[in-house]
Amino acid sequence: MTQAVTNWARNITYTAKELHRPHSLDALRALVAGSTKARVLGSGHSFNTIADPGADGVLLSIAGLPPVLDVDTAARTVRVSGGVRYAELARAVHAHGLALPNMASLPHISVAGSVATGTHGSGVGNGPLAAAVRAVELVVADGSTVTFARGEAGFDGAVTSLGALGVVTALTLDLEPAYEVEQHLFTELPLEGLDFEAVAGAAYSVSLFTDARAAGFRQVWVKRRTDQAPVDFPWAAPATVALHPVPGMPAENCTEQFGVPGPWHERLPHFRAEFTPSSGAELQSEYLLPRSSALGVLYAIDGIRETVAPVLQTCEVRTVAADRQWLSPAHGRDSVAVHFTWVEDAAAVLPVVRRVEEVLGAFDPRPHWGKVYAMSAYDLRRRYAHLTDFLALTHSLDPTGKFTNAFVQDVLGT
Ligand SMILES: Cc1cc2nc3c(=O)[nH]c(=O)nc-3n(C[C@H](O)[C@H](O)[C@H](O)COP(=O)(O)OP(=O)(O)OC[C@H]3O[C@@H](n4cnc5c(N)ncnc54)[C@H](O)[C@@H]3O)c2cc1C
Repeated sequence: MTQAVTNWARNITYTAKELHRPHSLDALRALVAGSTKARVLGSGHSFNTIADPGADGVLLSIAGLPPVLDVDTAARTVRVSGGVRYAELARAVHAHGLALPNMASLPHISVAGSVATGTHGSGVGNGPLAAAVRAVELVVADGSTVTFARGEAGFDGAVTSLGALGVVTALTLDLEPAYEVEQHLFTELPLEGLDFEAVAGAAYSVSLFTDARAAGFRQVWVKRRTDQAPVDFPWAAPATVALHPVPGMPAENCTEQFGVPGPWHERLPHFRAEFTPSSGAELQSEYLLPRSSALGVLYAIDGIRETVAPVLQTCEVRTVAADRQWLSPAHGRDSVAVHFTWVEDAAAVLPVVRRVEEVLGAFDPRPHWGKVYAMSAYDLRRRYAHLTDFLALTHSLDPTGKFTNAFVQDVLGT
């Protein structure tokens, strides 16, 4: 490429030979049909090479396609282009008095890129963002269009697809009536005596944060829907100042706190759409593990605090309800998600990632597809029971492996 294209974190420079930004569906179809290797770049918020087609391939951005944002108030659905970001989607949906069931920590990410990697928020009753998808429309390898609707054969492989099936041009999502959320923050929750199920279930969405410099959690973010029970959180003291999850970062970048009710899309993400999310200079890793093992997992991380703390900005613990997508890290099991925002020094971080994977190994961890992990392909593959189904779906839509890259080959063992 004439100009280097990197991901958001700038730790990956894509090696693709060209970046194309078609402005019509027909131009996209022609580009796909005429390429031998292609991958789609969403908003580039992944931390690994998942989006890179390799040096003989092309990167396709669909951000230039005419945006689709069709809200059907009677059916309570929205049909949205794959390249639209959650911030824009949420504003449009809210304007119709409707809401998404959940959001990730930031609204800056594209819809298709997010569901492709199993992106999630928190909440014991909330599946990953992909759980709201009822149909997905793709341009596949030969340039034709294919739609998978919930309940149809192949749908369970078609949403969290790692970008391996083709270009997701549009998705139809389930909506519900708009709701308000209050955000209550608490500080210094001890690990000793933690009733994880009670804490995680204390409200619609709960996140625990630690810097690993001491045992327990420095912050707890409790997001309560105002149409649900009041917050009863006897385990930690309410925060007295506004907070950012990363120590030292300004709280003004974060969504409103102190229990001020507001629209769902201005409370469920931690970070405001107009500001840089998180710290902006970082790497990230995350593992989804059975929620039934949450305490064991938290004590395992606590046991290596002295290794983790020097390269950690913050560690966030969330919950994700089981979902049906074959490649979802939350597939078939209610999960606890343990996330690490590292410093941006890959050489210092990677040995710690390996150590984290060693201590989590006993709990059957599945890494987030969009973040940094070191797990062997063998360890990955044995954690997904439907890999052969996914492989068959890939072959049926893309017999020559046009949308397969080194990352996907590693996962699928092809
Ligand atoms: C600051 C920050 C905070 C984050 N917070 C969270 C969080 O709260 N929860 C969480 O789970 N994750 C989180 N993430 C990770 C992020 O959600 C994922 O990396 C997600 O994939 C980002 O979407 P994207 O559009 O940037 O994807 P990209 O990185 O651009 O692409 C990811 C994958 O999707 C594919 N893809 C993208 N668009 C399409 C398309 N139209 N058709 C086919 N394939 C496509 C790409 O080829 C690639 O394989 C965070 C990341 C950052 C940087």
